[in-house]
Amino acid sequence: MDDITVVSFDVEGTLVTPDFSYAIWFEAIPRRYSERKGIDFEQARKSVEEEYGKVGDQRLEWYEIRYWFDKLDLGIPEPVMEGCQDRVCYYPEVRDVLSSLSGRYRLTVASGSTREFLHHLLRDIEPYFTKVFSSVSDYKWLKTSDFYLKMCQALEVRPEQVVHVGDNWQFDFVAPSEIGIRAFYLDRKGQTNHQNSLVSLTQLEVHLSG
Ligand SMILES: [Mg+2]
Repeated sequence: MDDITVVSFDVEGTLVTPDFSYAIWFEAIPRRYSERKGIDFEQARKSVEEEYGKVGDQRLEWYEIRYWFDKLDLGIPEPVMEGCQDRVCYYPEVRDVLSSLSGRYRLTVASGSTREFLHHLLRDIEPYFTKVFSSVSDYKWLKTSDFYLKMCQALEVRPEQVVHVGDNWQFDFVAPSEIGIRAFYLDRKGQTNHQNSLVSLTQLEVHLSG
């Protein structure tokens, strides 16, 4: 893979565990809702989850924390997100891999998380990345092949010069592959047996030097 210049990473499920998001959506928001409404936590959680269900992950609002804070009348999200900062957890190999690859490639982020989330999720590893792309915040949509094309244009590289890795088959493997990006599917549970699947980011280094 001699002509590769950019290595792009998904964030949630790839660099960071789902813990922070879970803490926001299923603990902190219901807790705040229960306080504001004066109802118990389980009841609040049920109501909040019902509201999430009505919107669904195919609509942009689903991803926008401000939309939910307004809708549920919870005030402003920043202190709540800050309060969950200690729930951000990187997978064990992440720092070593980023540190090793950053000397040889431009490292970038291609995430479906919003900038508000990325601000917290990337806090300790942001210096490794030359550019951070959020499909929802920057382009108002999910990670489609069009999104990856725009990312390549912004980086001034051809798709063939980019490697992308992520844990969602459609958004991180199919979509970037469609435009010629060298994509790898991260399957940390090791349930797929595909030539471009990896069980950890350490394996990515092996592919890149192969
Ligand atoms: Mg992911």
